[in-house]
Amino acid sequence: MKPYDLIIIGGGPAGIGAALQAGRTGRKVLLAEKGNLGGRLNHAFLVKNFPMAGTNGCSGKTIVRKLVKQLKALDIAVIHGACQAIDHKDGCFISLVNGRSYNSRAVILAGGLEPKKLIVPGAGEAFEQKRLVYYWDDLMCPQKNKSIAVIGGGEVALDQACSLAAKGAMATVLVRGGKVKAYPGLIKLAEDLGVKIKYGFIIDRISLNGPELVLHVSGNRELKCDRAVVAIGSSIPRTIISDQAKKFMKKGLYLAGDLADKNNKQAAIAFGSGVKAAMVADFTPYPSPNTSTGSATLGEGEVKRSK
Ligand SMILES: Cc1cc2nc3c(=O)[nH]c(=O)nc-3n(C[C@H](O)[C@H](O)[C@H](O)COP(=O)(O)OP(=O)(O)OC[C@H]3O[C@@H](n4cnc5c(N)ncnc54)[C@H](O)[C@@H]3O)c2cc1C
Repeated sequence: MKPYDLIIIGGGPAGIGAALQAGRTGRKVLLAEKGNLGGRLNHAFLVKNFPMAGTNGCSGKTIVRKLVKQLKALDIAVIHGACQAIDHKDGCFISLVNGRSYNSRAVILAGGLEPKKLIVPGAGEAFEQKRLVYYWDDLMCPQKNKSIAVIGGGEVALDQACSLAAKGAMATVLVRGGKVKAYPGLIKLAEDLGVKIKYGFIIDRISLNGPELVLHVSGNRELKCDRAVVAIGSSIPRTIISDQAKKFMKKGLYLAGDLADKNNKQAAIAFGSGVKAAMVADFTPYPSPNTSTGSATLGEGEVKRSK
């Protein structure tokens, strides 16, 4: 089978940006997504800083719907499954998805970041029972009138508390220090929605008491709630790139999105970095049609098509 021009791993804003860019230039593209297209943007209550968000902003899901529509309009091939490995052999990248190998000339890894784990005694059991989750929409219960704590002090914590409050939950953000790290508009929105913010909450143990989730806080205090969401930051996941494929970093293999720029975790930046990665990937030499050895030529026509 003819190799793909480009395989993109991860269908968040970065992966979608890359797919749209490559698809628009007529490349044979494959996008692999293990969860939902749109990635972490799906969890966002209010996004104001993305071009499609309009003057008043909109939910992350609304933006994702528009992006997915564009993917469909360009007829981009999407497979649902986790990529387990990216390797390089005989002049080609090999991506292993759902146990099947896909060959390509270039690969963009746009797998995003993972939520930072809360590692305290008792957390494991609470996670297993889904009483503790990393994203508010993973809570399996109706949220109305439930008391739900959000552990964390950044924009992702506050934004998730807004989602919960808008669903009728009694949402409380538990901040470790004395300050929330979020733009003033988001703090005001949270307050308007009835979100409570408590400071100086360092969780050191979690226990289950019947239907209650008990958060034990330093200083011998405790907070009882129905459920809790953990939003204490993000970390880089374990790599799926083989040592051989790593040798082709920036020479056919590119990182994009939050994974490439973990200090600027914004959807618009991720989307733009996906577009850029696809443009750079487009300059990777194409196998010449006149050779069977896989040796490559980059013709003037290839460069023009990418502009
Ligand atoms: C609650 C919340 C609110 C936010 N609010 C805003 C906001 O207001 N404005 C803003 O700009 N940004 C916001 N963000 C941040 C924004 O969502 C991220 O910066 C952006 O989604 C990053 O895009 P990405 O494509 O790099 O990664 P992600 O969105 O994380 O997407 C990566 C995708 O790759 C998939 N994946 C990972 N590994 C594999 C694999 N091995 N195989 C196949 N698929 C894989 C994942 O399932 C995921 O769908 C918010 C985030 C959250 C959680």
